[in-house]
Amino acid sequence: MTQHRLFINNEWTEAASSEVFSTIDPATEQEIGVVARGRAADVDRAVQAAKAAMAGDWSRTSAAQRGKLLFKLADLIEKNIDELARTETLDMGKPLSQARDDIGGVISCFRYNAGAADKIQGESIPVGADVIDFTLLEPVGVTGHIVPWNFPLNVTTRSLAPALAAGCTAVIKPAEQSPLSALRFCELVREAGIPAGVVNVVTGYGNEAGDALVRHPDVKSISFTGSVATGRKVLTAAAEGIKPAILELGGKNPMIVFGDADIERAVGDAVSASFDNSGQICSSASRYILHSSIQEEFLGRLEEKVKRLTIGPGMENPDIGPIVSAKQYANVMKYIDAGKASSARLRLGGGRPQKFNRGYFVEPTIFDRVDPSSIIAQEEIFGPVVVSISFDSEEAAMHIANNLGYGLVAAVYTRDVSRAIKFAKGLEAGSVWINSWWIGGVQAPVGGVKDSGIGRERGMAGLRNYVQIKNIGIRP
Ligand code: NAD
Repeated sequence: MTQHRLFINNEWTEAASSEVFSTIDPATEQEIGVVARGRAADVDRAVQAAKAAMAGDWSRTSAAQRGKLLFKLADLIEKNIDELARTETLDMGKPLSQARDDIGGVISCFRYNAGAADKIQGESIPVGADVIDFTLLEPVGVTGHIVPWNFPLNVTTRSLAPALAAGCTAVIKPAEQSPLSALRFCELVREAGIPAGVVNVVTGYGNEAGDALVRHPDVKSISFTGSVATGRKVLTAAAEGIKPAILELGGKNPMIVFGDADIERAVGDAVSASFDNSGQICSSASRYILHSSIQEEFLGRLEEKVKRLTIGPGMENPDIGPIVSAKQYANVMKYIDAGKASSARLRLGGGRPQKFNRGYFVEPTIFDRVDPSSIIAQEEIFGPVVVSISFDSEEAAMHIANNLGYGLVAAVYTRDVSRAIKFAKGLEAGSVWINSWWIGGVQAPVGGVKDSGIGRERGMAGLRNYVQIKNIGIRP
C-alpha cells in the first residue's frame, strides 16, 4: 500500500487537515493506497502557487519554450508508459492494453499541443486607413481541471495540455476513485523542468476540493468532465464567479444500422464500442437502433463475438475488467434489474460472472425489444449494458436517436450516401460517424450538444478555451 500527498508548487505536501482517504483495486476490492484529502484551504494554496507562477517565470517563457517543455514531458511519459498504464489499471480496473492506449493518447495530446504552442496567433483587422487594429490571444490565467475516473490521466491531459500550451497554469482535481496516475505524472512534470506552480494536483472529494476549485475567485476557467448532475452544479457555481466552464458530460449514444449496411463491420465495431472499458466510456455505443430486416442477424453475430470476450482483473489483460467501484457496480446492477423488470428481453448476460467471488465484475449484457421511452433506453448506465431498439423507416430511426436528453456521439451504418448525409446533418450530437465508430484523435474536436455538454476539447478548438482575445487599436 502506498501513501500519497498533494502536489503544490512542485512539492509534495500533506493536506492542511492531515486527513486521508483510500483508493482501492476494483478487481480485488483491496485498498492499494492512501491519498491526501484536500479541502478548500489546500485548493487555495494550490491556486496561490498557480497564480504566482502565472505572474512569474511562466509568463516570461516564450511560446516556443513552452512547446519544448511539453515535448520533453511527452518523452518522459513515453519512457514511463508501462508504469503509468499499470497504475491506471490497478487504480480503476481497465485492461492493461486499454490503459496503455490511454497513455499513448496522453503522449499524442502533449505533442499536438506542444507543436501548437507557438502557432496561437491573433489577427489584424481592417477598421480604418489611419489606424492599426489587431488582436492578442492572451492566456486566461489559472485554470481548474476536474476529472472523472474512467480515463484518469487521458482526460486530465485533454484540457491540461492546451492550457499549458496557451501559457496558463493549472490546478487539477482528479477523481477520488482513481487519483494515482495524476500523482505519478506530477513527478514527470517536475523532471521535465516545468516551473514550480504551473501544474498542481489537489486530490479529494468533489463537494470539497472540486467545489472549492470552481468557486475560487482566482481560478479563471473550469474544465469539467463528468456526469450531467455534477456538471449542472459546476456550471451554477461558475456562473456565480462569472467564469467560463467547459462541460464534457455523459452520453447515451446511438449506433444506427440500416438494412443495406456492411453488417460484419457494424458488429465488429459494436464489440469494442460497447464493451471496451466495461462500457464506462462517455462515447460508448449504448443504444443499437437496428432496422428490423437485419436486427436478428446483427444481434446473433454480435452475441457470438461477445460470448468469446474474456473477463478478469485488468492486470491479466482480459477483454473486460471490473467496474470502477462498489457504488458504480450497484448503479449498473440497478439498471440491469430495471431492464429485467421492464417489457424488454434480456438477450445476453445480466449479472455477475459466476467465477468471481470478489471484484466488481459485470457480464456484458444486451437487452433487445426495448421500449425507447423506458429508463434503460433513456438514461446513461455507464457499464457493459446495451439496449437494442428496432425501426422500419428513416424517420423512426432519426426520432428514436434524437428523442432523449443526451447528444454526445452517434453513428450510422448504410451504403446509401444520401441517407448518410441526411443523418450526419440530422442527428443531434457533437460527433457523427458514418460506417465506423470512434473516428478521431487529438486533432479532432469532441464535445456534446443538449445535456451532453458545452464547449469542445481537442484540436485547435481545445486550445481556444485557454486564450482570451484582447483587441488593440493604435492611432499613430
Ligand atoms: P462525477 O460527475 O461523479 O465526477 C466527476 C468529477 O467531478 C470528480 O472528480 C468528482 O470528484 C467531481 N465533483 C463531484 N461533485 C463536484 C462538485 N460539486 N463540484 C466540483 N466537482 C465535483 O462523474 P464520474 O462518475 O466520475 O464520471 C462518469 C461521468 O463522466 C459519466 O457521465 C461520463 O459519461 C462522463 N464522461 C464524459 C466524458 C466526455 O468527454 N463527455 C468523458 C469521460 C466521462
